[in-house]
Amino acid sequence: MEKKNIDWSNLGFAYMQTDMRYVSNYKDGAWDEGALTSDANIVLNECACVLQYAQTCFEGLKAYTTEDGHIVTFRPDLNAKRMADSAARLEMPVFPEDRFVEAVHKVVEANAAYVPPYGSGATLYIRPYMFGSNAVIGVKPADEYQFRVFTTPVGPYFKGGAKPITIRVCDYDRAAPHGTGHVKAGLNYAMSLYAIVDAHQKGYDENMYLDAATRTKVEETGGANFIFITKDNTVVTPKSGTILPSITRRSLLYVAEKYLGLKTEEREVYLDEVKDFAECGLCGTAAVISPVGKIVDHDKEICFPSGMEKMGPTIQKLYDTLTGIQMGHIEAPEGWIHTIC
Ligand SMILES: *Cc1c(COP(=O)(O)O)cnc(C)c1O
Repeated sequence: MEKKNIDWSNLGFAYMQTDMRYVSNYKDGAWDEGALTSDANIVLNECACVLQYAQTCFEGLKAYTTEDGHIVTFRPDLNAKRMADSAARLEMPVFPEDRFVEAVHKVVEANAAYVPPYGSGATLYIRPYMFGSNAVIGVKPADEYQFRVFTTPVGPYFKGGAKPITIRVCDYDRAAPHGTGHVKAGLNYAMSLYAIVDAHQKGYDENMYLDAATRTKVEETGGANFIFITKDNTVVTPKSGTILPSITRRSLLYVAEKYLGLKTEEREVYLDEVKDFAECGLCGTAAVISPVGKIVDHDKEICFPSGMEKMGPTIQKLYDTLTGIQMGHIEAPEGWIHTIC
């Protein structure tokens, strides 16, 4: 297969249309058999439930080329499960988990020419999503849905090394107790746009959201979970019913324990104790881990000892081990790597 003529190492994170995408429609209580299509556009009624009441959820994962030349994805079964949970919380029919993995497989295979070569640092980003598609004006769930998967090649997250970022403690909340913070709903992102534009205007890279009930505990950023390292090298991640269960974070905790022999704790993390940590990072599919150098809490600054030049040593080890597993340099736990071709 001949690769597309793309300058892989200079790609950013932007949508580029690829050849094929997967579509399945839900009607009269059942999903149809689904198919690949070259049509990137969707025609919807003006009153479609997704347009009026934001009935939509999504997933995000990547396909990439390993050192030995295979195209693979990382733990797509967990994306399938998470999307099933999101759909259930939003009163949408679940797209069967095995069919989700199969759809991802087919779309990546059909767009193999867009999967960046090994060593470029670039990847093929995969976006599964679904939405209520028929007209609904009284507030209720749709009766018809569409599930789609498209792909788009994206550049290396860190160009020229991972520089630590600066984040601020945000005065807006992301998720209410017993709300939808734990599912990947489009609505969680719509309401975060104001806060992220404001943060960027003020010179911060990201927002640290606190728990809405007490505003004393660390939750996450708009699109990544926190990971902290204590001074005695324990890996700590916030536990909360209102954060999105990051697959990267769950994988890092496993790697910390089973590959690096580190102690791990998943527990409530108070903002007051953040100043005592040695390292801080954000974890998600896009970057695996972005190191955080500084957190600004209004008139107070928390500067981590790892500084603003490079990742802290333990976060670096976690990053190297997980990316090593993904790229095939380090043996993966059973079932983590899904080979496409
Ligand atoms: C998608 C997402 C993450 C990261 O999850 P991964 O599975 O690691 O990509 C973290 N927080 C939020 C709010 C998200 O939407």
